[in-house]
Amino acid sequence: MNDKIQFREDEVYILGRKFVPLINGEKIRRRIVELSKCIENDYRDKIPLFLIVLRGAIFFGVELIKNISIPVNLETIRAKSYGQEMQSSGKVDFELPNCNFEGKDIIVIEDIIDTGLTINEIITALRRKNPNSIEIACLLLKPESLKTDVNVKYLGFEIPSKFVVGYGLDFAEFGRNLQDIFVLSEE
Ligand code: 5GP
Repeated sequence: MNDKIQFREDEVYILGRKFVPLINGEKIRRRIVELSKCIENDYRDKIPLFLIVLRGAIFFGVELIKNISIPVNLETIRAKSYGQEMQSSGKVDFELPNCNFEGKDIIVIEDIIDTGLTINEIITALRRKNPNSIEIACLLLKPESLKTDVNVKYLGFEIPSKFVVGYGLDFAEFGRNLQDIFVLSEE
């Protein structure tokens, strides 16, 4: 048995830190289908260009897009994660794909918004590329942590300002493949 990640009944231990269930995977998938249908409706006469923010938003992004039946385009942005930390460093590090955004209807797909600094910098960089519109789809938002205004059109869930893993979100690269979202235990 590996010592990096361990399961004990409902609890998960990653590198010795205890995480407890916060949002069940079934509930997540149901909510994502609702968001997909909203997007499908709103973009019926357009071809949205989805920009998945790697790596955390891969799971959310795939689930969101595969439930949409209008034509879509897909690109990815690489953004730096917390690494071994559980708090934002305040430094934002990302790379826009080398493609034409002019006149496009972009939907940026994020896993989680904490301070909002990452998504705001991505949006600012995208605006310079003259798209027709930019919206945000995000699985999780920590409203109490926001340090800047962020307008999330397609939001999965609001959560408390605590560190979470699962459904694409990692702690030191572990826990991404958990089906549910788990929160760091205060014990
Ligand atoms: P922000 O710039 O909004 O403070 O942070 C956004 C990024 O920080 C997210 O895309 C994600 O990579 C990381 N992040 C923020 N909160 C959490 C969290 O609770 N768990 C994990 N695993 N990453 C988080």
